[in-house]
Amino acid sequence: MKVSAAVQVGRQNLQVKEFDVDGPAAAADGALLRVEASGMCGSDYEQYNGEFADVGFHVYPVIPGHEPVGRIEAIGETTAQLWGVAAGDLVAVEPFCPCGICARCTEGQYQLCKNRFLYGFSSTEIGSGLWGGFAEYMQLRPNSVVHKIPDGVSAHDAVLFNPLGAGFEWSVRAAGTQIGDTVLILGPGQRGLAGVIAAREAGAGQVIVTGRGSDAHRLELARQFGASTVIDVDAENTVERVHALTSGEGADRVIDTTPYATQPVLDAIEAVRPGGTIVSAGLKARSVPSLDTDKLVLRDVTLRGVIGVKSWAYRQAIRIIASKRYPLHLMHTHTVGLDRVADGILTLAGKVDDAQAIHVTVFPGGEPR
Ligand SMILES: [Zn+2]
Ligand SMILES: [Zn+2]
Repeated sequence: MKVSAAVQVGRQNLQVKEFDVDGPAAAADGALLRVEASGMCGSDYEQYNGEFADVGFHVYPVIPGHEPVGRIEAIGETTAQLWGVAAGDLVAVEPFCPCGICARCTEGQYQLCKNRFLYGFSSTEIGSGLWGGFAEYMQLRPNSVVHKIPDGVSAHDAVLFNPLGAGFEWSVRAAGTQIGDTVLILGPGQRGLAGVIAAREAGAGQVIVTGRGSDAHRLELARQFGASTVIDVDAENTVERVHALTSGEGADRVIDTTPYATQPVLDAIEAVRPGGTIVSAGLKARSVPSLDTDKLVLRDVTLRGVIGVKSWAYRQAIRIIASKRYPLHLMHTHTVGLDRVADGILTLAGKVDDAQAIHVTVFPGGEPR
């Protein structure tokens, strides 16, 4: 069979190419997935720019896209049994394909697997080459972690499993959010917005979200998802406002989802309460100047990094999507086909004037309906 895919062959160089694939062979040990929709991630921009290849995270050529939802086209018997899915089922695929037996995997940190295989970052020179979501079909290895999407949920809705999963992983589990907590989320991108929903679901008392003046539409969406206060950092002082909202105490949990900007890290340290937790989730590509660790030590503050999302959080995400209790469709701002993946990446990254993107979906087989 012929399979079209958007292939990154170098820095800022994506080309639609055709692969000649033996479908049954690709599905024999694992499964063949017909990709219905693939979510775009902030990291897709860094990958497009060559930043991941520069640090040896992957080699070219590669099919990007690590947030796919698709139909099981064909599946090996053993794999079908292990996953509990059958041909025809709609599934979401986790980006990390862990070995399951290394020290990290057996400790439950499978996103740090020593024998990691990562969809969207694995060379097309390996096997069928179909290891990324920006393609009509993907090959899935037998140790993939897949989630069956409930009936009545479309691929376009389900594709939010990834950012919403990050909301639960970062703003709830990693942050240790409990009932009544004040949760401060820095950055109103798709994962910050997802964090609002997750924190609300976890019973947070206040959810405060920060953004720039140019993020007005995102901050409005944060309100619709349940944020109690939004702060325009271009017009207001985040730290002062958070202290005013918490009787001078500070936020119990602070989640920094902002990419590149370093000021939010310093704000987080000033805005968190003594004994509170800061979750650092946005890559900065630089060190943070004037970071004063004494402020962590003397106030017993936990500062932790997070990479990726684990199954519990994805399950919560899919449960919330299926519940239809939030106007998640408001997240969908842009869709592209395989021939416009680069446009989609630049749009999501805010490099296209007035695009105001929140979530971008790639439809490899054309848009549904
Ligand atoms: Zn991602
Ligand atoms: Zn492993």
